[in-house]
Amino acid sequence: MRLSQMLFVTLREDPADAEIPSHKLLLRAGYIRRIGAGVYAYLPLMWRVLQKVSQIVREEMNATGAQETLLPQLQPAELWKESGRWDTYTKAEGIMFAFTDRREQEVALGPTHEEVVTYIARDMIKSYRQLPQHLYQIQSKFRDEIRPRFGLMRGREFIMKDGYSFHADEESLKKTYNDMYTAYSNMLRRSGLAFRPVEADSGAIGGSGSTEFMVLADAGEDEVLYTEDGKYAANVEKAVSLPGDAVASTFSSYEKRETPGTDTIEKLCKNLQCSPTQVVKNVLYQVVYDNGMTVLVLVSIRGDQEVNEVKLINELTKAAANYNAKTILSLTVPDAEAQSKWAAKALPLGYIAPDISDDVIKSDKDIAPKFLRLVDATAVELKNFVTGANESGYHVVGANWNQQIKLPESIVDVRKAKPGDMAVHDPQQTIKSARGIEVGHIFQLGTKYSEAMGATFTNEQGEEKPLVMGCYGVGVSRLAQSAVEQSYDKDGIIFPVAIAPYHAIISIPNINDANQVEVAEKLYQELNQAGVETLLDDRNERAGVKFKDADLIGIPFRIVTGKALANGKVEVVKRKTKESQEIPIEEVVTTLFSWVEKEIKG
Ligand code: ATP
Ligand code: MG
Repeated sequence: MRLSQMLFVTLREDPADAEIPSHKLLLRAGYIRRIGAGVYAYLPLMWRVLQKVSQIVREEMNATGAQETLLPQLQPAELWKESGRWDTYTKAEGIMFAFTDRREQEVALGPTHEEVVTYIARDMIKSYRQLPQHLYQIQSKFRDEIRPRFGLMRGREFIMKDGYSFHADEESLKKTYNDMYTAYSNMLRRSGLAFRPVEADSGAIGGSGSTEFMVLADAGEDEVLYTEDGKYAANVEKAVSLPGDAVASTFSSYEKRETPGTDTIEKLCKNLQCSPTQVVKNVLYQVVYDNGMTVLVLVSIRGDQEVNEVKLINELTKAAANYNAKTILSLTVPDAEAQSKWAAKALPLGYIAPDISDDVIKSDKDIAPKFLRLVDATAVELKNFVTGANESGYHVVGANWNQQIKLPESIVDVRKAKPGDMAVHDPQQTIKSARGIEVGHIFQLGTKYSEAMGATFTNEQGEEKPLVMGCYGVGVSRLAQSAVEQSYDKDGIIFPVAIAPYHAIISIPNINDANQVEVAEKLYQELNQAGVETLLDDRNERAGVKFKDADLIGIPFRIVTGKALANGKVEVVKRKTKESQEIPIEEVVTTLFSWVEKEIKG
């Protein structure tokens, strides 16, 4: 491609609405243009990057025997109603673009394809003889994200590879899952990324079957907890650890104390001269289930610990059936306004005890009459602890479970693991924290969708069984931007060779010099013919402008047909290291070809 003919516009200044380096650079270098919130045009350079990433993904998927397909983006509501996700996706999370068509039918733009693919499997898979199957596709997905940001990192329309596998049993699922683990690791390695596979939350389905592939970068929205021995890495949403030991209580007898102005743990501990590890903290939540039922949830946890809301949501989803509900619409910490809707009297906020009376809840058909009381394991172990007295300005000290305060029935792990904790697999290892960008997620789904939608097959024994499923996603557009987030300098992008839009760029310093032009044109033809994808900067611009642009767009190798021509050579500059060398004209093609090969093959 000739730059003189390309729709190529670079910006000198950082665009005002871009916050992170990769977003700024992709805009400045003319890779993308914003069309609307979370909606971007992939300009010709970006499209080449995306196609390269897609091709790597495709090769790794095909190598596992998965079959490429293309499923509709326009999806009928019925399928989502069958799986039970219509309400969650359109109302609770509200992440799905849904509308009514001219036939008065509800339809949605696909944020993901479990429903569509399960529908196909139900129709086409009848026998164990047809199993396993694995279909994947690469296409645009639509998600009405609350906070679209960082360019392609969190778009409302973005490109994903999603794959879905079907199996007769768990063992077959695990095999494909392991194959995907390898395929995903290969994809990221080949794309030139530094990444870490981490244990991920699997929602209320539980199980250990979910791994996220995190690209390590400060701009990452996810927090990864890991140990330096390399034996543990998990998304903070899912992470477990051993909390530090609690300090032995300094209180030996049960007493109510006046503790005015101590509605936070910090103030309380200062007032009572105690450690937060001696306190049972009680955190109030309000959950609304899909049947409209509001339940007040009281979580008791050790004072120095925080509640992990993802773990809490999983517990509350498990409890949904007790309220004749299926899923959660919202989980919030009720503010004054929310409380006024259900509180029969003012709550002693900041002074609540685990046994606060259910009388504080108004009687109403849509409000559960009793608190759902959960106690985290960290609080269960405490002796002679401090907690609220259910009266503003008062706490109790020296309390013990089932002596003064009844231990709630549900003992759960809803504690947030944090850096500095001890690792479960080896308490000598300290938990560390890093930021990550989730570029891939592989998941053992089990029979959630096949059961809900009646996708069954006949097994070897002639019994009808639900299909066992897995699903596997890669954010193709997010991955491409993550590569930039991991690799740039003050002058611009440094694309890994494997996914760079072009391998090389020939910059002609002076297009009025016939010799410069002639050598450049010749090399341009020969390089492209040899498979070295080459851009020709034949614009009528100053050399300085050309070099700046070449650096900005991050093409791995720059060839300059300048002064060295006098000795039958050209200057070749490596973008990454800025290392420059003169190479005889007749050796350029073989040299560049071998450099590219070496980088791509690794
Ligand atoms: P996140 O937690 O970042 O919202 P997710 O867990 O909802 O992502 P999945 O449903 O697992 O995402 O989708 C598979 C992959 O698609 C993700 O690992 C990510 O790389 C990509 N992805 C998801 N949402 C977006 C988005 N809004 N913009 C760009 N890529 C996305
Ligand atoms: Mg995910």
